[in-house]
Amino acid sequence: MIAENMVGMVKNSSVIRQMFEEGNRLAKLYGAENVYDFSLGNPNVPAPAEVNAAIKEIVDSEESTFIHGYMSNAGYEDVREAIAQSLNKRFDTHFNLTNIVMTVGAAGGLNSILRTILNPGEEVMTFAPFFGEYRNYVANFGGKLVVVPPNTVDFQPKLDEFEKMITPKTKAVIVNNPNNPTGVVYSEETIKKLAAIMESKQKEFGTEIFLIADEPYRELAYDGVEVPYLTKYYDNTVVGYSYSKSLSLPGDRIGYLVIPDEVADAEDMKAAASVATRILGFVNAPSLMQRVVAKCLDAKVNVEAYDKNRTALYNGLKDLGFECIKPEGAFYLFVKSPVEDEKVFCEVAKKHNILIVPGSTFGCAGYVRMAYCVSYETIVNSLPHFAEVAKELGL
Ligand code: PLP
Repeated sequence: MIAENMVGMVKNSSVIRQMFEEGNRLAKLYGAENVYDFSLGNPNVPAPAEVNAAIKEIVDSEESTFIHGYMSNAGYEDVREAIAQSLNKRFDTHFNLTNIVMTVGAAGGLNSILRTILNPGEEVMTFAPFFGEYRNYVANFGGKLVVVPPNTVDFQPKLDEFEKMITPKTKAVIVNNPNNPTGVVYSEETIKKLAAIMESKQKEFGTEIFLIADEPYRELAYDGVEVPYLTKYYDNTVVGYSYSKSLSLPGDRIGYLVIPDEVADAEDMKAAASVATRILGFVNAPSLMQRVVAKCLDAKVNVEAYDKNRTALYNGLKDLGFECIKPEGAFYLFVKSPVEDEKVFCEVAKKHNILIVPGSTFGCAGYVRMAYCVSYETIVNSLPHFAEVAKELGL
């Protein structure tokens, strides 16, 4: 008999993952080129050439114990120092290796930091629409996820609601910028207001409220838009970064946490985050990949390819009468369902071999998410099928 609290989790297991399996099934039936799978945020743009070159260079070096061995739970010191200096150069910060804990992607980092700070019953807030896995990550440590309802006008967080909903039990606020599933970038103005509310609530309640910046999409921003670096706006900020999307390495599981010295009890936090990484069973982030990312700090994926997809899908759907705002980052488009129940939209789309994810998965019913990290041809070829869907739904 599996644990009681796993029963529901298995039953509600990721809708996105189920779609991904469905996509594989349809591809076998109809041929992959006839299936338009916008379900999973699995980058189609290859990792930059520097990544494979770095892997070869490292494995061809002779120090194989050094390549494959255990190291400190927080990761290799030289890798962490290199990352800290790269951040300092880019964001005018003043980190050093002690501020960096290497993690098993963003998911590993978020779980480690939540393990570090959460007592059972404490609340973690986030803004809808949000990455649905936060529910599970927070539940892993007995926390309660409190979701601020969506602002469907421009999908910036609803800060007036946030201010009303924050309580003395609020231990952390997770902000994902650029955002999955909307592609919206929370502006500097938004971040400043959010920080001011959190500062004043910390004072009012006499508590510490941590801001967790979940940033796997930081490098995927278009039209020159700036993505604010949150440690500069609020002292109690921890950043969770990942190379899954920025270097197209989702299966290799590598990222890091930044715990600045300004964070309350920073020394304890850094120590606890390293221990959390170990005791959650990660032990340490993958050794080879730590070495690889340290050699690829300035490497970039082909963001222009995503940008081209973004424009093609956005313009194509707008021309067909669909409503959506143009994303400024990540590789998702959040589209208003032409019918009230977006699951009906998803079902009709599926009949036309188009796979899209219901917004309710992200705490925002009435919308669907389309991941455009697919080939440009998939987008172009999907549009006549979207036209059929639009007709069937009376657009
Ligand atoms: N956070 C957000 C918002 C994501 O979209 C994802 C993955 O899609 C993750 C975290 C997890 O990323 P990783 O593969 O680095 O664990």
